[in-house]
Formats: sequence, structure tokens, C-alpha cells
Amino acid sequence: MTAKPHISCQFKRDYPQLINLYPTCTIATQHSLDNLNRLRHQCLTALLTQPSPHLCVMGQWGLGDGIELLSFIHYWQTLAKTQNLPRLLLKVFEPNPINYYELKLLWDQSQSLILHPHLQPIANAIIEAKPARIIGCQRLIFDDGRISLDLDFGDLQTMLVNQPHCGTYPIQQWLILPHLAPQLSRKILWQMARLSADDAHFIGVELAETTQNLAKTCGFSPLTITADMLCGEQIDSIASQIVTDDILLHERKLLRQQANNHQAFTPRPSQVASTKQPIAIIGGGLASAHLMLSLAEREQSSILFCKDNDLGQGASGNRQGAIYPLLTPENDELSRFFQQAFLFSRRRIAALSLASMKGSDVASGVMPISHDFCGVLQTGHDERSQQRLDKIIQSQDWPAEIAYAVDASEANKIAKIGIDKAGFYYPLGGWVCPFEYAKAAVDKASQLANVQCHFNTEITEIERDAKGWYLLSQDQRFGPFRQLVLANGAQLTQFSASERLQISPFRGQVSHIPSQFQLSQLATVLCANGYLTPSHQGLHCLGASYVKAAEHLDFCPLEQLENLGKMQQSYPNQDWVEDIDISANSARVGVRMVTRDHFPMMGCAPDVNEIWARYEQHQINQQQAEQIRHYWQTTPAPIHDGLYILGGLGSRGLSSGPLAAECLAAQLTDEPLPLDWPTLNKLSPNRMWLRKLLKGKAL
Ligand SMILES: Cc1cc2nc3c(=O)[nH]c(=O)nc-3n(C[C@H](O)[C@H](O)[C@H](O)COP(=O)(O)OP(=O)(O)OC[C@H]3O[C@@H](n4cnc5c(N)ncnc54)[C@H](O)[C@@H]3O)c2cc1C
Repeated sequence: MTAKPHISCQFKRDYPQLINLYPTCTIATQHSLDNLNRLRHQCLTALLTQPSPHLCVMGQWGLGDGIELLSFIHYWQTLAKTQNLPRLLLKVFEPNPINYYELKLLWDQSQSLILHPHLQPIANAIIEAKPARIIGCQRLIFDDGRISLDLDFGDLQTMLVNQPHCGTYPIQQWLILPHLAPQLSRKILWQMARLSADDAHFIGVELAETTQNLAKTCGFSPLTITADMLCGEQIDSIASQIVTDDILLHERKLLRQQANNHQAFTPRPSQVASTKQPIAIIGGGLASAHLMLSLAEREQSSILFCKDNDLGQGASGNRQGAIYPLLTPENDELSRFFQQAFLFSRRRIAALSLASMKGSDVASGVMPISHDFCGVLQTGHDERSQQRLDKIIQSQDWPAEIAYAVDASEANKIAKIGIDKAGFYYPLGGWVCPFEYAKAAVDKASQLANVQCHFNTEITEIERDAKGWYLLSQDQRFGPFRQLVLANGAQLTQFSASERLQISPFRGQVSHIPSQFQLSQLATVLCANGYLTPSHQGLHCLGASYVKAAEHLDFCPLEQLENLGKMQQSYPNQDWVEDIDISANSARVGVRMVTRDHFPMMGCAPDVNEIWARYEQHQINQQQAEQIRHYWQTTPAPIHDGLYILGGLGSRGLSSGPLAAECLAAQLTDEPLPLDWPTLNKLSPNRMWLRKLLKGKAL
């Protein structure tokens, strides 16, 4: 039973404001758009004729009214039907974040799609993907990963400075929309140059001469086009000659080197995965399933080793889990990461669900995912939690699609049962069945690439020689694998190479409650001291206990009572709480791995012994604090070559897992990441040590 909030009343910007911020480019006719697309395609000829390029990355400066973007996606999709094209990643840099509701308003009111009706399905797909008005990169994936769109929203210079450079797949081409061209400062252009291929094209609509000259001083050969040129028939002769200047190229390389040195403490994979050799993964939960999917979208094969007889038997085995972003009053990196991740995960659920419905008479091959985006209603449960929630609500102007404050009567309407207190409502949140979510991801992955699952295979040891990593089970030795990912949830620290990771297991029991009486009316996920989901197949999930270093995973009657007690404390005097019947002792127990800073762990496995050895050496040498800090900042941090970590998803893995997996897949294949440097540093598994060392503190 889905709550239906009147979300439209929460948005503040109207059409005149929108069209001012996202103006129409001069290219309005279909003929001009076609010509622009052909020109952009022609400029890529050198790349497209290379033997099997895997990915083409294009940058767009400004969103405008989005028509150029829609049109190019349509062009690429059409061409891909007859030509062997690489995958496409479009990165749009836009200073003014916009959400799906406003995009629809913009497209509806401008009537631009009436002129270009063939673009409507792509516009719909973007709207359905629910981009939000948030800072940071939002990755939208279409056509099973053949087309991805990164909406990079926020301060342009900050975004560019914080983008990691991608050596294998740099930006091949820029399209500069006229209304944002004046913002192209020298500093910004150098950053664009850093992120671009040395022969990248720089195409501008009506570029001013000063901008062209500036672009030239940063090593671009700008190609400026006018509306007249695009109306004509001579477009084929326009593609420019790229003039490469050795001195300027040298400058770019220095910039890349400088940026990489500055972030050396967050290590990158030393070698790129090869599609011919599978990446080995130890796991079987949500993290590994989504890694397999993200790799498969890149045509990268993978091989899973799981100790259970099926996917989703560990922490990912619950019937229902809440999905919504973790926000902080400061809207710091953690909060921003969780908004990006939550939206990404939501898109994954929607896309996989759609895939499961495809093919009416033949089975789609993708497990349907039980879920309901019925929203999540958060309320305080004691003075402290209420203060914290108030602080979150009041400290930021949160986009309404992320969360908005509701009063007691609105809370009652949303929940359809008595809440009688004000709260914070996450309209796009809801619940999802984690093990179905994991299975659907692997189903989809196996349709896209060679994916193998070895069940009932517990890996007891891992070891490495010059050829790669080997995995040892009781009676077999698998390998060598050039890349091995540990995504083994609660057992993450079981191997000597990972035993020192700073992460702790917390047992959790989720109670299964029969749906009855008033309780059965619950229409949104309630989150206070613990959470309560709307009913699914006649049961609600009530959870979860939180027990450190538990000795067993057996059912615990006390924790069952605790779960009930939390609801009684959170919603005192509500009749429906009496409908919660725990007497059947039905529950599920799992273990989540929790980091102190609540970020997941994603990236190269740190060689902690070597970090300590170097630390001791530097301490003994009594070097100056500043020199030591510089050393740790600019020296690649020690890692176990070829070994990666994907874990520590804590109590929010349904939100954070899929994006963390997407980032690791991008790292392993050296593709552009949907996260910036500051966030990557926070996700790095070595951060607990490096954070201190970078501050010159003792370990
Ligand atoms: C009680 C509880 C309630 C939760 N509620 C929510 C919620 O409401 N919302 C939310 O977002 N998140 C929730 N979470 C967290 C979320 O479920 C986890 O973050 C997520 O499922 C972790 O996925 P994972 O793949 O990292 O780990 P897991 O799902 O535990 O997967 C790890 C896998 O590794 C396999 N494995 C381990 N060691 C080996 C080995 N040596 N060899 C072979 N295989 C091995 C295991 O069989 C297992 O399948 C909850 C977790 C718990 C425990």
C-alpha cells in the first residue's frame, strides 16, 4: 500500500526560472541537431576505427534545455543498431542542479519535445531515473550499460579539480554550450585539458574569440560552429584538424602527474583488468552481485566463490530492508555519497525490475525484485534523537525529492496509521528484498558477460605468487587470478591479507510480524529507534538489534523483545503498536560489518604491515612533520597488488552497495568513476591509517 505524498507542491522553481537557468541553445531545428551529431561523430572517427575501443567518453559543458544531450543519445542508439560502436559515457557538467520533476516541467512547457517527438522515450527514461537536485555525480545507466550519463552537478571548477584523470578512457570530446562558455576560465580549461585525451576535440557553439584563444593556450584546437553552419549542407568538411603542441601537451602531463601525486595516498589498481581473464570474487551477497553486474556491463567476466548454496544467504538474506539516504547536518561527504548512492541503487532496482518483466511468454531470466518505493518516514524517539533530526532538517535546504519535513498530521496521512509527531520524509525511499535484489543483479550480469558462480565453496586461504592470486578451499586450489576482490561480508577480515582492516561485526535480528488489524494499514517504512516495514506477503519486518562481537547467530528471544520495545518507545500510546505480535518467534539473524566513519570500504587492499614498517622507519628518522606528511601524501600507499576490498556496508548496504560496486568495477577497468577524489579518499580501505599519517599524527 503505497503512500502518495503531494510532492509537486514541494518544488520551488517555476518555468520562467528554469528556462533562464537552462536556456535553449541556438540549434533548434532537427536538421541542425542532426548536423551537430554527425559532426561530433565524425570527430571521433580516429577513436572509433581503433581495434575494439571499449568506451567513448564525451564531455558536455552545461545542460542547457537538454535537447543536445537527448539528441546525441538518440543518434548513438540509432547508429549502434547498424555499427559496432563502443559503449558511451556522457559527462554533463552543470553548475545548477536540477531534478526530474523540473526537467519534465522544462520539457513540457517549452514544448521542445513536440518538435522532436523521437526524443521523448529518452527524455522519459531520464525522468524515470529520478535525477535529484544534489551536488555531485549522478550516474544514469541505459541499454544494459551501453550508454551511461553522468550528471555532474555543482561548482564547475571544484568538480573538475576533484575529478580523477582516467588514463585509459579520457574525455575524447567536449561540447560547449553557449550560455556557459563565459565561465571557461584559464584554470577551468587547464582542468578540462587534464581530463581530456591529448587529441580531444573542443566543439563550441558560437564560441567567442577570447574563449577560443584561451582554449588554444591550454592545448585545445577549438572548433566553433554557428547556427548557419549547422543549417547548411557542408558539415562534413568542418571537422577540424587537431594541432598538437608538444609544450602544451607536456603541461597537461605535468598537471596529471601533479594531481595524481597529490592523491597518491589513495592507491589505484596497478593493472587494468582484461576481458579475457575473469576477476575472482569471494562473496555471494549484495556487494559481490552488484560488482558482477557492473563488470558485466563492461563485458568483463567474473567468477564468484561463495560458501553458501545460493546468493544472499548472509547479511543480504533479509525479507525486506529499508532504502533511503543517510543525511548529516553538515551535508558532508558522507551525506553526499549516500544521496548519490541511494539514487543509484534505486535506479538499479527499477531497471532490474523492468528487465524481469521483459518477454511475456519466455521467462526473462531475471529474478523479480519485491520492493515498494513507498517512502521512509523518520521520527525522533527520544530527546537526543529528536534534536539530531531537527538539526538535520534545519541545517540544509534539502531538495524535496531527497527529504522534507512533515508535521504530525502529514505524518499520519503518509503512514496511514497514527504517528502523531512531526518527522522527516524521504519520498523516494522505501523497502526492497535484498536477496532478490542480489539474485536479479547476477541474473542480469550472466546475460551480459561470462559469469560463473561456485557455490558451496568456502575459501579458507588466499595466497599470491608472480602469476596472481590463488584461492584455497578445503579440497581445491583455484587460480591464478590477476584480480581478486574480497566481498565476503562478515568474514572480510578472515584472511591474513585483510585481518587488520578496521571494521567490526554487529549481529542483527530482524523480527517477522504477522500483518493484522491497524498495523496492516502501514503504508510507508517507519524509521525511529529501529524500523518497521509495510507488509510483504503477510509479514512486516521489524528490526534490528545491534550486538557487537556476538558469539552465535541463533534466534534470541531477548532481542525479539527489544525490537518490540523500540517501537513502543518510538510510538508511545499508538494502538497499532499493540498489533505487533512477536510470539511466533519468527526472525532472521545476520551480521553487518560496520566502519567507524560509516563509509563502505572500496578499493585496493592496503598492505597494513608495510604501512606500519614505513611509519616506524619515518618516525625513527625523526623527520620534520611537514616532510612526513608530504611523504605520505605523494607516495603511493602500500597495497597487496591485485587484491581489492568491497565491504563494510554496515546497516545501509542496500543504498551504498551498488554504487560502491560500480566504482570498483570502474577502477578495475580504468574507466571514469562516478565519484570525486574527496569521496574516494573516504572510501579507501587504508583511510584509517592514512588519515592520521596525513595529519602527521601517530598511528
Ligand atoms: C539484521 C540486519 C538488518 C539490516 N537492515 C538493513 C536495512 O534495512 N537497510 C539497508 O540498507 N541495509 C540493511 N542491512 C545491511 C545490509 O543487509 C548489508 O550491508 C549488505 O547486505 C551486505 O552485503 P555484503 O554483500 O557485503 O555481505 P553479505 O550479504 O553478508 O555477503 C557476504 C557473502 O560472502 C560469503 N562468504 C563469506 N566468507 C566466505 C568465504 N570464505 N568463502 C566463500 N564465501 C564466503 C557469504 O556466504 C555471503 O554470502 C541489514 C543487515 C542486517 C544484518
